[in-house]
Amino acid sequence: MLVGPAMTTSATLVDGNAVARRVRDEVQSRVALLAERDVVPGLAIVLVGSHAPSEIYVKKKLEACKKVGIRATVHRFDPDVTAPVLYGRIAMLNADPRVHGILVQLPLPAHLDSKATIDRVDPEKDVDGLHPLNIGRLQTGRAGFVPCTPLGVMRILGEHHVAVRGKHAVVLGRSAIVGRPMSWLLLRAHATVTTCHRHTTDTAAFARTADILVSAVGIPGLVRGDWVKPGAVVIDVGINRLADGRVVGDCEADEVARVASLMTPVPKGVGPMTVAMLLSNVTLAAERGVLAG
Ligand code: NAD
Repeated sequence: MLVGPAMTTSATLVDGNAVARRVRDEVQSRVALLAERDVVPGLAIVLVGSHAPSEIYVKKKLEACKKVGIRATVHRFDPDVTAPVLYGRIAMLNADPRVHGILVQLPLPAHLDSKATIDRVDPEKDVDGLHPLNIGRLQTGRAGFVPCTPLGVMRILGEHHVAVRGKHAVVLGRSAIVGRPMSWLLLRAHATVTTCHRHTTDTAAFARTADILVSAVGIPGLVRGDWVKPGAVVIDVGINRLADGRVVGDCEADEVARVASLMTPVPKGVGPMTVAMLLSNVTLAAERGVLAG
């Protein structure tokens, strides 16, 4: 158990559900404003095959969209769909004015090239922030779309008044969807950023120097209490299912909680933020559409 009366816990635990609820409330107000202009934000989810976790994620996204008034549709394809057929549908969605956001649910089957597929999505509808144009916009400080999970982490830091400017942030992981955009966002917020990855020789030594430590690796128990500087803020992005069915993060949570000042639990930490930020990004795409006339 993470926190209990018998434990000498010092870290404040982030309530990811509460932060996500506030984001959803804001989205609902924005959706209501769009309705005054007869605009209903639309999300198209492209789903290939029947990858079980993807089915669960898509279901969650559909439910979340429905609750805030976003019109979401799923475009399903057989696992052996050819690239031209898939690209054809993406082109149709790009041209459809009722569709403001397009999301290609990853992973795709091995015969399809994820990067080439994402390249086909109109960057103005790329609500996952994975198109190279949006990656470049993030890196060069231009407005675009930012991947939902790291965007959610920044929102958590903001809501907890974590000072980022001038701090040393260490990000464990450099994936396109979490680690790298996380590092760029922290850099954009004026942190000094170190990015560690599987080839980093002494990850623990870097972690110990972090004022803000973000772990997005996918190894349960990787981050021990002695990896954390006393008083540091620790954000655990990892979602790992153990053999006994429990879901844990990358942190040895009870150890880290004794050292950190603020930390995100798993579950109910960063997890709920990802879908909430997707709703925000789809709404943003619709708002930009209105502004562009
Ligand atoms: P990934 O497998 O694509 O990337 C993992 C990264 O960790 C790689 O860059 C790798 O180089 C790095 N790494 C491996 N060993 C390391 C080590 N010892 N020290 C430092 N870095 C190391 O995974 P991902 O898609 O980025 O996801 C990472 C974790 O976050 C997973 O557990 C995933 O389930 C979770 N996740 C959570 C959310 C959420 O909503 N909370 C969203 C996306 C991913």
